[in-house]
Amino acid sequence: MDKLEILEDLAAVFRWTAKLNMHEAIANHFSVCVPGSNEDFYVNGTGMHFSNIKASDLFLVEKSKMDELKNKPELVDPTALYIHGAIHKKVPHARCILHVHSKYATALSALDDPTLPPIDQNSMRFFNRVGVYRDFGGMGFEEESEKMATKIGNKKVLLMSNHGVLTAGQTVAEAFDELYYFERACETYLTALSTNKKLKIVSDEVAEKTAQEWEDYSTDSKDLHLKAIRSILDQEDPSYKN
Ligand SMILES: [Zn+2]
Ligand SMILES: [Zn+2]
Repeated sequence: MDKLEILEDLAAVFRWTAKLNMHEAIANHFSVCVPGSNEDFYVNGTGMHFSNIKASDLFLVEKSKMDELKNKPELVDPTALYIHGAIHKKVPHARCILHVHSKYATALSALDDPTLPPIDQNSMRFFNRVGVYRDFGGMGFEEESEKMATKIGNKKVLLMSNHGVLTAGQTVAEAFDELYYFERACETYLTALSTNKKLKIVSDEVAEKTAQEWEDYSTDSKDLHLKAIRSILDQEDPSYKN
């Protein structure tokens, strides 16, 4: 996939995340590695609202300029440089990282036990597949970021206690599909909890089988998901591609 296509994909995902109200205005970050590198990446620059980001707005962070940029918060949020930089570098499958404080994932992150039990197909998708970083110690600077990179390991979802969530994928489409379904799973779980009735949790065997079925379910569905989103944006407002 060429560079332009990746940036258009990421811009589309910014806008769609805003439509889903999973964003926090100009806060939070999405990033994608430059093809062939795990240290140079594109990320949203400071002050950009998720709802109107364009492909050409995405800021190129180069390894050689990283130290300089860390002292220029007017260009890029330093926590984006630390968290995303550390994870892109250490985690091979984290070519794209989507980091938000979406409503339901963040609510789950605020629970003392943030385990998502297998209660529907979406929550089963994440059975034993979520890394949890429990030790919130302030904004994501150097030390925090290194620990987060260790906690995500080979998983695609990192729930950050008292903070929010980030997903990682080989592609923008993959990372977004994870984020979307994780938020949906959290929404269902918290809605079910709010009834104060007993949850019907499936067995570990059924949960694991269903999770594997999700994994076998063709990676095409992730690409089709983003393709469908882009086709809606193309009709409504194709300026994300500018
Ligand atoms: Zn955050
Ligand atoms: Zn971030």
